[in-house]
Amino acid sequence: MKCRSSRTSVLRRNILRLYTVTLIASCLAIGFYIDQGWNVTRAHAIADLEKDATLSAQIIDDGVKDAGKLLGITKFRIEERLRRGGLTRQQAHDLLKESISNFILYNENQSFGLLVYLDREGVIVAQNGIYPAPPYYLGDRLYFRLLQENPSKKYSIGNLVKARTTGKLVFHMAMPVHGPDNLPAGAIVQQISEEEIAVTLGKIIRNPGEKVMELTSSGEAAFIFPLPPNPDELREISFPRLLKLIAHLGKSSGWVKIPGGITELQETVYAGYLFGYEDGICSVVTLRESEIYSLFMNQYRKELGISLLIIFVISVLFISLHRQSRNLDDALSDSQHDQLTGIANRYAAEEVCTRIWGDALRRQEALSVLFIDIDHFKLLNDTWGHDTGDMVLKAVADSIRRSLQRPLDFCCRWGGEEFVAILPDTGKEAAQRIANTILNRIRELHLSKGGKPLPMITISIGVATSQPEHTEDKERLFSRADSAMLKAKMEGRNHVVLD
Ligand code: GH3
Ligand code: MG
Ligand code: MG
Repeated sequence: MKCRSSRTSVLRRNILRLYTVTLIASCLAIGFYIDQGWNVTRAHAIADLEKDATLSAQIIDDGVKDAGKLLGITKFRIEERLRRGGLTRQQAHDLLKESISNFILYNENQSFGLLVYLDREGVIVAQNGIYPAPPYYLGDRLYFRLLQENPSKKYSIGNLVKARTTGKLVFHMAMPVHGPDNLPAGAIVQQISEEEIAVTLGKIIRNPGEKVMELTSSGEAAFIFPLPPNPDELREISFPRLLKLIAHLGKSSGWVKIPGGITELQETVYAGYLFGYEDGICSVVTLRESEIYSLFMNQYRKELGISLLIIFVISVLFISLHRQSRNLDDALSDSQHDQLTGIANRYAAEEVCTRIWGDALRRQEALSVLFIDIDHFKLLNDTWGHDTGDMVLKAVADSIRRSLQRPLDFCCRWGGEEFVAILPDTGKEAAQRIANTILNRIRELHLSKGGKPLPMITISIGVATSQPEHTEDKERLFSRADSAMLKAKMEGRNHVVLD
């Protein structure tokens, strides 16, 4: 039988639905916002990578151009001396020293490090620093090998290595020197300090975690900033697959997302690149996706926190609302149920009866009411104690409840040891049958207390039926049932009286 508690369960269901919808809508809105934020952060980071690739290429390019000028002047002077015949180590040293000091005069902000003159075998003849220069053999260096393999090359650039002359990490540029016979007579080499370039590059880097790489045409890392923890590793580092992938894009500049494992890079990175020099050197600036994610987290931490807080607050609100509705449900249920027997109470009966009465009127159906009273209950209480009385009340209530089998049948404890059953769409004979079932079931209870069997419990039932015409009101129907019950009492109890 539907009553108020079922309305609160609808309320609870609606609260849950509303919560689900609100939660999904909030999550979608937050997801959309986060996605937008991520896209904006990523787009900015990529734009920075492209700018930094251009700037680093510019810096390296400027450095190479300056170094090229210095080497060009020195090469011209040395070749002139070679044409005049003979060039002692001392003279070569003086020439190098003079060239670099003259050059620094016009490029005062630059450091041009060490200028070295090698013979055709690659052994140092002179250098502008310490004199006499120790006879280092540098013929195995990349820049020198490139010049030897291709004598028509104007210059070559070597990757960053630890110089044998100074022990420092340097970036090399070399130019061939020709003798009077116009045959290769050695090379002029300039060491461009890695520190100098790194300081300048450090200023242009926009995002922490960016890595600047200058890749030679064969994919060797000519330069990496910041340096790996162990600079000796530089000799090993080369990125042929990365360079191939970038070259495959067919553009001289741009950006690319490189999933981890496709190239030598272990993690997924974004790279801005620019092919800067005639040698095919490519400036690549990379940033790991995880670092872009950190940038995003730094920028959106507050918003993400607020979003989570909103979801938390919404959840707490709904959970407490749900709990409150459950409490309300329990309270309503309590107010409509008899504490002792668990069946409905008189208060619920009045509400239910009004509805059943209305339905019966509308549908033109018969309606029966049973008034049930336990016989000599006072005596039972007095003899066996109140607890036993309570136990009997529960057993009787249970028997009545189990005797009513249709879902719309209703029973309640009317008060004391009296019960009422309301049977919709039930005529006189059917009501009498049900009353007898209740009577018999209670007679057959066979209750006991402390091992002693209780006397047989009997009841008196008054039955009143309202016919489909409903010429009376419901109070009259109840009063008829009550009178029938009293008649049963007077006729000796333990039986059913029909009104
Ligand atoms: P009759 O056959 O005429 O109905 O006699 P009766 O003794 O059953 O009727 P009476 O109205 O004299 O007594 C009803 C008794 O029911 C009185 C009261 O103490 C007892 N009673 C009412 N409510 C409860 C209850 O919740 N628990 C117990 N144990 N007894 C109750
Ligand atoms: Mg009574
Ligand atoms: Mg009684």
